[in-house]
Amino acid sequence: MPTRRALIASSLTALALPGLSRRAFAVATPPPARAVPGLMPGDLRWPGARPEEVAFMRRVYEAHLARSGTRGAFSGDIPRHRLGIADGDVLMLAEAAAACAALLAAARDDLTAARKRKAVKGVQAPAALSAYRPASRQFTLWQRNFPSYFAETADARAALRGGPLGEEAVMHMTEFVRHHLAAPGYSLHNSGKAVDFQTTEQGMWLKADRTQREAWRASWFYGWLIASADRYGFHENEKIDEPWHWEWRGG
Ligand SMILES: [Zn+2]
Repeated sequence: MPTRRALIASSLTALALPGLSRRAFAVATPPPARAVPGLMPGDLRWPGARPEEVAFMRRVYEAHLARSGTRGAFSGDIPRHRLGIADGDVLMLAEAAAACAALLAAARDDLTAARKRKAVKGVQAPAALSAYRPASRQFTLWQRNFPSYFAETADARAALRGGPLGEEAVMHMTEFVRHHLAAPGYSLHNSGKAVDFQTTEQGMWLKADRTQREAWRASWFYGWLIASADRYGFHENEKIDEPWHWEWRGG
């Protein structure tokens, strides 16, 4: 009887066998983000920065990916044929898109009915603002935002042991970045399952804006989502304070 340890060791050996198709392995286990062409640390560019600053940027990126990988699933760019129209030109994963379109149609019908009853006024038809965002686009955002995050953390990093580009600075900046932006491939928008809604109420356009949380929660559409979104497989993410952001958990 082989020991448990021996069994694990032999299954690891099996994975490394050259005969095993790369494709079969890729389906069973998504590649780590840092191994995906276009999303690798070496793909990051920072024009004008010193080589040690670029190296620091890449270490922060690696640390951010590693941290994200322990908490969520990686999603690379989704081919167009697997996406569908959620609303207007806003795309989601096909199944989520169909559910989102049905949700919005129902919300608009209920709004029309409520207007007829004079139960609501000053509310415009709700819509999707944005949803699917490719991991490659997330990478571009990460790269573009890094220099300003670097500047914003300069004083704090300078005070750390090891200096502004040291190991503690890497950890400090990884924490800072992850509170502003998801790592490429780890945003639920990258998986095509998250949507940010928009609505207009009493002349105010409510969008994905952190200064509008209260107005959002007081809106007719938010009340409708709380009462009805789960019928379409959509849920609010309790871990983030973004009332416009809803996630499809069907399928
Ligand atoms: Zn969102």
